[in-house]
Amino acid sequence: MRLLHGRPLAERLDARSRERSDALHARDIHPTLAAVSVGIDPSANTYLQRLVRGGKTLGIAVRDVSLSREASEQSVIAELDRASRDRSLHGVLLLTPLPGKLDEGHLVDHIAPEKDVEGVNPYSVGLLLDGRPRFVPSTAEAIVELLKFHQIPLAGVEVVVVGRSTVVGRPAAALLLNEDATVTIAHKRTADIGAVTRRGTAVIVAVGRAGFLTRDMIAPGATVVDAGINMTPAGIAGDVDADSVASVAGALSPVPGGVGTVTTALLLRNVITAAETQTEGG
Ligand code: NAP
Repeated sequence: MRLLHGRPLAERLDARSRERSDALHARDIHPTLAAVSVGIDPSANTYLQRLVRGGKTLGIAVRDVSLSREASEQSVIAELDRASRDRSLHGVLLLTPLPGKLDEGHLVDHIAPEKDVEGVNPYSVGLLLDGRPRFVPSTAEAIVELLKFHQIPLAGVEVVVVGRSTVVGRPAAALLLNEDATVTIAHKRTADIGAVTRRGTAVIVAVGRAGFLTRDMIAPGATVVDAGINMTPAGIAGDVDADSVASVAGALSPVPGGVGTVTTALLLRNVITAAETQTEGG
């Protein structure tokens, strides 16, 4: 079984981002991302640290805008509106998960589309579904870019996506459709999920349950992409039971070292793109 490593793709993306960032700095433009967080969530914090570290190596400043856990919806909206207007900020990212009472679906309306580097504003979502993506949720794009990088054929191929969240499953399915795959989306209410996943020449898993996909759920030789990041007593685990699937799958993205490695590189690349677009002709 082949392992679909993310590192070589992330390195290639970062090298290109570095060149583009250098060109911006030469014009005295300093690409900057505002990362807005509400309360302290451990996984959001880990992601923020990765962005700060990655940003440093690529010449992208990451401004940490932390609001207290008790912040009202109005104050989060005010912060997103402020960041959207601030000309020194090129990208705006709302870190999730949010504390229970806040409605993410409503908040993302306040991220200006030209700064929506995670592709969550309904305008960005509409462009993706219209087949002309601009900014796309980075985990979803990482899944598809990883498949393309490893030359896994997608056109005309049956791909099953397990999970329908707005940040992973749905946008991944839309991107795969744009690659001419025949896409099925499965979720909690899918009857006989194993029968559905066994139809897939490729299976994408984004459910948030460690070891969810097992060998009996895939066809021999299937390509499996694991988007899961689960904290378990034994460390980070994906949504795929890798030991079980290894004897049946043709290819598998490892966790860690697969999709997650590419996600940060794509998000930071989007900050560069946003900075270029906003300063064109300037
Ligand atoms: P989410 O919002 O909780 O969505 C999970 C999806 O999986 C839902 O659509 C849910 O179905 C479906 N699901 C859950 N249990 C299922 C089951 N037993 N059978 C079938 N479908 C099931 O999670 P998410 O944000 O999409 O994240 C998914 C995974 O990706 C998590 O492990 C997360 O940590 C990881 N993730 C990774 C990155 C990265 O950078 N690699 C970034 C974000 C997330 P319903 O809609 O029917 O409830």
